[in-house]
Amino acid sequence: MRLSEIKSSLVAILEQNSDVENAPRELSIIIEDVTGLDKIKQILEPNIDIDDNSLCIIKEKINLRKNHTPLSYIIGKREFYGLNFYVSSDTLIPRPDTETIVEEAINEIKVLKKPKVLDLCTGTGAIGISIKANTNCDITLSDISNKALEVTRKNAEALINNECKIVQSNLFENIDDKFDIIVTNPPYLTAQWYDEVTEEVKHEPKLALVSSGDDGLDLIREIIKSAPKHLKNGGILLIECDYRQTKLCAKLLETANFTNIKIIKDLAQKERVVRGSYYA
Ligand code: GLN
Repeated sequence: MRLSEIKSSLVAILEQNSDVENAPRELSIIIEDVTGLDKIKQILEPNIDIDDNSLCIIKEKINLRKNHTPLSYIIGKREFYGLNFYVSSDTLIPRPDTETIVEEAINEIKVLKKPKVLDLCTGTGAIGISIKANTNCDITLSDISNKALEVTRKNAEALINNECKIVQSNLFENIDDKFDIIVTNPPYLTAQWYDEVTEEVKHEPKLALVSSGDDGLDLIREIIKSAPKHLKNGGILLIECDYRQTKLCAKLLETANFTNIKIIKDLAQKERVVRGSYYA
């Protein structure tokens, strides 16, 4: 079947999913994923013939998307901080908002000499791997989920030549080292916020999104409590949270004797990251 015919017949199916903002664009990405024909080729050769087998796979993928499976899971990748991360439904899909914590960590690292950095609750490895790819640091990536760590491993191999340590750990349970910087994007949605997320987000692992406590901060509380034991003197903790939690999170850091506390905004000008230094 001709590419142009496929496009005109399938775009309407994607449009049935109200989460899809730009159906022609997503269709083009799915076609590229299956056939290898990039966007330009698709425009220049609208009459190219697509074989039945590829068409069948394209249709399956379009149906998944119609039923709200995130595009990143369908094509198995997501661009983050200029790198192409492999993703599966065992991990959260890296968000553009999360580039803020990476940016901040990189700025802190620039003035240090080969610091030791820990990315706690790493998932795909997006934060830690982006930091490692852009700085001279020793990086440890950890997560509670072995399934997520399989994804981390693939990304570490493809993007930073395995130059990292990967540890399965429930928060700090299996972490012995002390670090100059700890970065973390732990689950922080409250049960109520989770009820309100889109059907698309519901395809992502709930374990990676929801924390307990009325304010969704139970895990962040535990992290702040244990972090001083894992920070070198003057070490820095950087936490991503929701803009409705930043002030409370800063207060928690203050109560735990952190200093130089700062709240950093994301590109959408929403408060997103909280930073503190710990001096023993
Ligand atoms: N920012 C994510 C969302 O709103 C939540 C990420 C997290 O819980 N760590 O879906």
